[in-house]
Amino acid sequence: MADRLYMIVPCYNEEEVLPETAKRLREKYSSLMEKGLISADSKVVFVNDGSKDGTWRIIQELHGSDTMFSGIDLAHNSGHQNAVLAGLMTVRDICDVSITMDADLQDDINAIDEMLERYYEGNQVVYGVRSARKTDTFFKRFTAESFYKFMKLMGADVVYNHADFRLMSARVLRELAGYREVNLFLRGLVPLIGFQSCTVSYERHERFAGESKYPLKKMLSFAVNGITSFSTKPLKLITAIGFIMSAISAAAIIWAFVVKLLGHSELGWSSTMCSIWFIGGIQILALGIIGEYIGKIYAEVKQRPRFIVAEFINDTGGNDNAEKDTEQ
Ligand code: UDP
Ligand code: MG
Repeated sequence: MADRLYMIVPCYNEEEVLPETAKRLREKYSSLMEKGLISADSKVVFVNDGSKDGTWRIIQELHGSDTMFSGIDLAHNSGHQNAVLAGLMTVRDICDVSITMDADLQDDINAIDEMLERYYEGNQVVYGVRSARKTDTFFKRFTAESFYKFMKLMGADVVYNHADFRLMSARVLRELAGYREVNLFLRGLVPLIGFQSCTVSYERHERFAGESKYPLKKMLSFAVNGITSFSTKPLKLITAIGFIMSAISAAAIIWAFVVKLLGHSELGWSSTMCSIWFIGGIQILALGIIGEYIGKIYAEVKQRPRFIVAEFINDTGGNDNAEKDTEQ
């Protein structure tokens, strides 16, 4: 018997692409069923992340016309990572295997066959990895690649060029449920869970329609979140800089005394100014980095729910308003 696949597709203002995404996924599912890779009751779950446009209406229509499509309506916009998690946590007990994919068709749905084959070979996690970034602008490619390198340098181990196109077995999802962090960064988290895993490479396409919901500002905060959620290296770096600065200032004090003793006490204004600005800058930066971590702790101790499911429309049990309206 083939396993039951639930695909999780987060959608935020995606009315322009959803009909096309649904059409292509329908074709894909039919062929996967024919090949015997997935069971006949496999589903595609669109997670509406508090969209302001007609996204939820389209999802409801899709569900009405084809029971292969399910939908989760979140009570408010929770962000991509939380929307993905909301989907995964909602289906973790009703699927055998899950795949997360963006709604904009940038991820290649033809990689799904290979992902499933790898899964049947015994892999619990299969990472979709971009083989080329030809379609991205130079700027996007450069910032994205620097991001992976910087992450690694800062001690957060992420799979290179892997976004959130990923297969996870139900077993892994159950373990993922145990990670309660509010500052969610799935790319860093899933490798931590472990289990046998592998990668499948695919070519990244251009966004089918609409605009990226990840402008540079969001991307930068995503990078900062990724680093500060997974590594305390920046804090250690501050300590190291502190030591170096102390050593330099000890030398400077000795130098100042020597100059004084030699009688050339009219010291330069420029050197004083420079050191004040330099040390001031480093101190503020250090405070900022420490502040980042305190902000993280603040968010974590509150333990607010990461998402709230307003409605889960899934055909298997009728139109069930999900029992678990918040995460458990
Ligand atoms: N998304 C979401 N919530 C948000 C922002 C984005 O669910 O607050 C979804 C979006 O609909 C898409 C995916 O996350 O399916 C990735 O977003 P996008 O394609 O805009 O990012 P990019 O590929 O440009 O990095
Ligand atoms: Mg995209």
